Amino acid sequence: MKEDYSEVKVLDKGVVKLLDYMGSDHDIAEAARVSYKGEKLVSKDRSLIRYLVRNGHSSPLEMAELKFYIKCPIFVARQWIRHRCGNYNEKSLRYTTLTYDDFYLPDVGDINYQSEINNQGRGGVIPSEYAMGIQEDMNSWMEDSVSEYLKYCEYGVARELSRIVLPLSTYTEFVFKMDLKNLLHFLKLRMDSHAQYEIRVYANAIAGIVKELFPITYEAFEDYVLGSYTLSRMEIDVLRNLLSDMDLCIDEFVEESGMSKREISAFKELLTSKLNIKLEN
Ligand SMILES: Cc1cc2nc3c(=O)[nH]c(=O)nc-3n(C[C@H](O)[C@H](O)[C@H](O)COP(=O)(O)OP(=O)(O)OC[C@H]3O[C@@H](n4cnc5c(N)ncnc54)[C@H](O)[C@@H]3O)c2cc1C
Repeated sequence: MKEDYSEVKVLDKGVVKLLDYMGSDHDIAEAARVSYKGEKLVSKDRSLIRYLVRNGHSSPLEMAELKFYIKCPIFVARQWIRHRCGNYNEKSLRYTTLTYDDFYLPDVGDINYQSEINNQGRGGVIPSEYAMGIQEDMNSWMEDSVSEYLKYCEYGVARELSRIVLPLSTYTEFVFKMDLKNLLHFLKLRMDSHAQYEIRVYANAIAGIVKELFPITYEAFEDYVLGSYTLSRMEIDVLRNLLSDMDLCIDEFVEESGMSKREISAFKELLTSKLNIKLEN
């Protein structure tokens, strides 16, 4: 593994550090092969893993695990720990005292308006002359909170109470372990454009590490999960009405697509039987 993949800096003071991992693409394929142990079914690791990911046979992916040290703002950690199928141990401000500037301050270019079309997300970028003022203002509020907190600590107020004046932007630290199946699910949700930018950068850093350690599985994840869409029954009805009874020649395109023979045949079957498309040979 390349050294620079093991620790990635994110945001202004955040960290994703790979602490440990178990397994490889080959181990995942070997776990799957137990299913037909004793039978003379030969398959290469890559085609077997692609088959598993494509068809949702996910238990062999649970045989691989990754453990990380994460340093992120509390509001990112709040989103992160919603992923229940991981293991966590977080730094406690009941035991420790925060250092003065341990909070996240967004870059001027990351300070946006509220989106008008997406209730949970950001819209256009606020012009830098205004964003700079907002950033300064945020910084001063956070500094005030932290100095208030430190004042209580110095006065001897219990750490567990002093901390309640700290902002959500305060950095926290935790150790996080997850099997590869659930980690890919985490990545699918948190690399998505609907996820908040600040957690997305962490997910992207983890994705880079997973890609390095499990290249075949990650490639299958990109092809069959990240790059795929689910169509609703109504959307399929629209396509069926649009495309039915058309004569299409798709051979040239499917050959260039990188699909295996088995995938091409399943795709053609889908087009003809589900969408009523006539395929020219
Ligand atoms: C863009 C975005 C916006 C979000 N907004 C909100 C929000 O506004 N409010 C909010 O509260 N949350 C929100 N969430 C969190 C979201 O609802 C999930 O809690 C979070 O993404 C964890 O997903 P998960 O349950 O699939 O993952 P995990 O908890 O890691 O679980 C992985 C999978 O295991 C299975 N599983 C785990 N536990 C159970 C169980 N108890 N019962 C049945 N199956 C289980 C499920 O198949 C699940 O998909 C948001 C998430 C995203 C990505």
